[in-house]
Amino acid sequence: MESLAHMVITDDWQFIAHRSTKETVADLIDLYDRLNDCYSTYEACISAYTTCPAASTLMPEKSVLIGFYESPPTELGKLLRDRRNDHALDCCPYCGSPKKPNELDHFIPKSIWPEYSIYPNNLVPQCRDCAGIKWNHYFCNKTNVAYFLHPIYTDLLPKVFFSVDINFIDDFTPPTFTPGFALESTSTEDKARIEKHLAKLQIPARFAQYCSDQFVTWKNMRRRSSFTIQSAMTQRVTEKSSDGISAQDWETAFCIAVLANAAVIDFFNRIQCQTKPVRTLGARVVLNV
Ligand SMILES: [Zn+2]
Repeated sequence: MESLAHMVITDDWQFIAHRSTKETVADLIDLYDRLNDCYSTYEACISAYTTCPAASTLMPEKSVLIGFYESPPTELGKLLRDRRNDHALDCCPYCGSPKKPNELDHFIPKSIWPEYSIYPNNLVPQCRDCAGIKWNHYFCNKTNVAYFLHPIYTDLLPKVFFSVDINFIDDFTPPTFTPGFALESTSTEDKARIEKHLAKLQIPARFAQYCSDQFVTWKNMRRRSSFTIQSAMTQRVTEKSSDGISAQDWETAFCIAVLANAAVIDFFNRIQCQTKPVRTLGARVVLNV
């Protein structure tokens, strides 16, 4: 997964919210000092991942705070939209799913700690599947540790490399996919944190399902079009992997695994293209449909 350290924002979005005519703006202005106190401890709170953040003292103001996120005034709304969609990410920074993340996660959930409702560094682009699983989970009170790694503040997620082992039996049996995760030079404690993050977001099962879906997708593509599977896979790996063998997203890992599996390559390349060729008659083009 890609580091989002570049997404740290130092601008104070409170001032932008204060410039609105929203009916609750006076209430928000009254909270300025208290919110600043919360914001000033945010990074320490994220670093102290074995301590549950203190209960919010701003629960009575929850509707005001969340209201500025869910029904933002115009200027703040544009900042939130840009944070959600106007980025160069082409895979989810939480899970490595190769889709542009188009949800905005409150890393510290706004329903429990509403003071971070519009704090920009608490707002992280995320894929829809992760959003549904993470929801308002944050801290495990049984093991006293935060469930997730913050893509903006951690350097651990970029150290995760995906791989997958394909068990191809024959042309008529759907292959099975066993995901693997290599961790680059991490301590035992960091390894445990990464494993908790992967498990809580159900990444092994989701990655394996992605590979099954991709297998069917590529099989259908070969039926519709005649191309060499090695070239198509190699092109994707070249675009995403610096050494051709390391993958930081699911698609690259799938392609690397296919290229390494002669039986799968042979299977794809034996698929008969079912699209009839185009015949030309003079200047007219006749499609054989
Ligand atoms: Zn995700």
